[in-house]
Order: sequence, then C-alpha cells, then structure tokens
Amino acid sequence: MQNQAPCFSSLRKDFPMLSKKMHGKPLIYLDTAATSQKPQAVIDAISNFYQNEYGTVHRAVYELALHSSQEYQAVRELIQAFINAEKMEEIIFTRGATESINMVAYSFGKAFIKPGDEIIISAMEHHANIVPWQIVCQDRGAVLKVIPMDDSGQLLIEEYEKLLSPRTRLVAVTQLSNSIGTVNPIKLMAKMAHQAGACILVDGAQSTPHLSVDVQDLDVDFFVFSGHKMMGPTGIGILYGKAELLNQMPPSQGGGDMITSVTFDETIYNSLPLKFEAGTPMIAEVIGLGAAVRYLQAIGLDKISEYEQTLLTYATEKMKEIDGLRIYGNAPHKGALISFTVDNIHALDIGSLLDFKGVAVRTGHHCAQPVMERFGVKAMVRASFCLYNNQEEIDYFVEALKSIIRTLKPH
Ligand code: PMP
Repeated sequence: MQNQAPCFSSLRKDFPMLSKKMHGKPLIYLDTAATSQKPQAVIDAISNFYQNEYGTVHRAVYELALHSSQEYQAVRELIQAFINAEKMEEIIFTRGATESINMVAYSFGKAFIKPGDEIIISAMEHHANIVPWQIVCQDRGAVLKVIPMDDSGQLLIEEYEKLLSPRTRLVAVTQLSNSIGTVNPIKLMAKMAHQAGACILVDGAQSTPHLSVDVQDLDVDFFVFSGHKMMGPTGIGILYGKAELLNQMPPSQGGGDMITSVTFDETIYNSLPLKFEAGTPMIAEVIGLGAAVRYLQAIGLDKISEYEQTLLTYATEKMKEIDGLRIYGNAPHKGALISFTVDNIHALDIGSLLDFKGVAVRTGHHCAQPVMERFGVKAMVRASFCLYNNQEEIDYFVEALKSIIRTLKPH
C-alpha cells in the first residue's frame, strides 16, 4: 500500500458522521458525489449562529441584524475569492445548483432567447442541466442540441464545433460529470462558445469541492454550485454570473429585498446581487457555507485534488482486477468517482448488500438517464471518493464487493 498523506488521515476526525456504524459495521461513506459529510467546524458555525448570534439580514438597525448582515456579506466576499470572481455583486445566493440553473434558464431565456435560437448542452449532463433548458426551448421556441461523447466518456470537441452556429445563444455544460467523472475542457469550450457569439454556463456542482476554480481564467459567463456537496449545509447554492449579463436579465422572483421602491403602479428593482435574492435568504446556511469554504481553503484545493487522484488511481487499479466488472468513464482527466456494473448482477443488489457491510454507494441512474442510455445500461453503481476517504476503506470496499459477487454470481 502507498503512503498516505498524513494530514489527510488526521482530517477524518473532523467529521463526526465518519465514526458512526451502519448495520454494526464502521461506516464507509463513498457517496460524496451525492452529498458530502460535514466537518465539525460547519456544524458548530451553524449551531453557534442559531444559539448566540441569530438575527435577520439587510432589514434592521439593531446589533444582531447588523452583525448577521456583516457575516452574510463576508461569506459573499469569501465565495468571490474562492472562485476568483471579479466583483462581489456577481455572487448570488440560491438554494442550490438546481435553483441556480433554473434561474438562469428563466431570466436569460426571457432576456435573450428567441424562436429559432439554439442552446447546446452535453451528453453527460445531470438532469438539472437538461430539463431547465428543455423548458426554455419549449417556452421560447428554441432548439436544444447535444454534444455527443465517445466510449471513454469524453466530449467530441469537433462535434461541438459543428453544433455552434450564429443561432447559438448559450452552451450549458458540466465541469465534472457526476455519473462518469469526466472533467471537461471548460476554458476551450468557453472560448469556442464566445467565438460563436454565445454565452456559457458551467455546472460546477461536482467540481467545486475537488478542483480549484477560477471563473475569470476559465472566462465563463455563469457558474453554479451547491453547498452541500462541498462540506456545507443543504439549501444553499451559488449562482455566479458576469455583472454585465445579470444586469440585462430580469429577476426570476419578486418580493422583499429585491426592490428599491414599490408602488402599485411601478416597482424599481434593486441592483445586483439583491435583484436576484428575493425574500429572507438562507442566513444560517450561508454562514455554514462560509465555514465550509474556510475549511477547504485551509487544506488547499490543489492538495485535495492531488490526494483524491491517488485514491482514484488506487481504487481503479483494484477494481479493474475484478472479473466481469465494467467501469464507465475512462477519460484521462477524471474526478475521484468510479461508476461500474458487474455482469449479470443488478446494481441495486450490489448497493443493498454493500450497505449491509457498512459501505454507502450510489446506485441507479445518477440523475443522468441519457448517460445510462449512451452506455446501454439501466443503472450503475457509483463509488465517489473525497478528502476524508482512505486506502483502507477502498480495500474494505473492494473486498466487500468481491464477496458479494461470489455470493450472487450465477454458477
Ligand atoms: N449538477 C450535477 C453535476 C450534480 O451532480 C448535481 C447533484 N447531484 C446537481 C447538478 C444538482 O445539485 P443540487 O441537487 O444540489 O441542486
């Protein structure tokens, strides 16, 4: 076994859930791609806020509200730095990546999409980056086009080039596929979109906890992600958008905070970012997300990536030795997740039996049914790795898998 970075093995104790047992066995949590476990620092930040500091934001002059407002704004600055956005007002708090994409689909669609226009997505998108665009296309009379991928799970860039046309208004693509792990060449794809006169939205739900992201260097127009996949709480996400675009887009919801004045005849909308943050926001969730970002930054995204890649290589090599096991997604640039099937055994059976052995993996279509169709399967098993996993867990998982296969394999 290779040596593990000592700092990573010591991180496990930061996550209370990782010392739990499942069915009497130590929990081996290999489903971070669905949602990550939370470090104590995040749990403490949320509970401290509710116990000692709770107050509303934006709306009052008393100390608690002023303090909450400052903390809330501080997290916005933190996120701005985290993804290197040019301006703080380009960071909008949402309830998650799904809501962020839907907001862009609605507002960008209303502002910029006309009948006959085209939107391009890719063959490996999560349903959250497919369905909103189908809805926009239906509403605006636009056409949805799909970049195909090869058998290794890489997008065919020459086909993407052919799909781009003067009618393309927007390209919406994931940075890291939740189903097959592929990391897409976003910088190149953004450049190509811009050369064709289109904008690009990048789904960063899977990339933000694992890769360092620089939206200015990538030159993307919109970038979305969720707090709960990156050590933060549920119910909080980010929509980054270039200010010049967001300023031209109508708000997606009306209500308090998103206005500067309201009469029965006319409402003047607030400036960015509040124009897109109607109603009392997710204050405690924002505070929790701040703690999560500080936690990740203290370790360093590059170190996290490097460590997770060692886990990916280690697990891939061990799993390749298993007879009848097929891995989907073999792109050279891949995130730390492995989706697979085993000949003649249903993915769901594997998942349930792994659960009895304490191992939590995802089974099913991973909210990416077109990916299942592309590879000709109904369901896959997915093991996803993260900074708090280690090689011992992978050893246990692989042995558990082998014993399940021995039990279930038809003789
Ligand atoms: N995109 C990708 C690639 C995802 O993996 C997910 C979550 N599985 C989403 C979008 C949606 O994120 P959320 O459910 O947090 O809104």
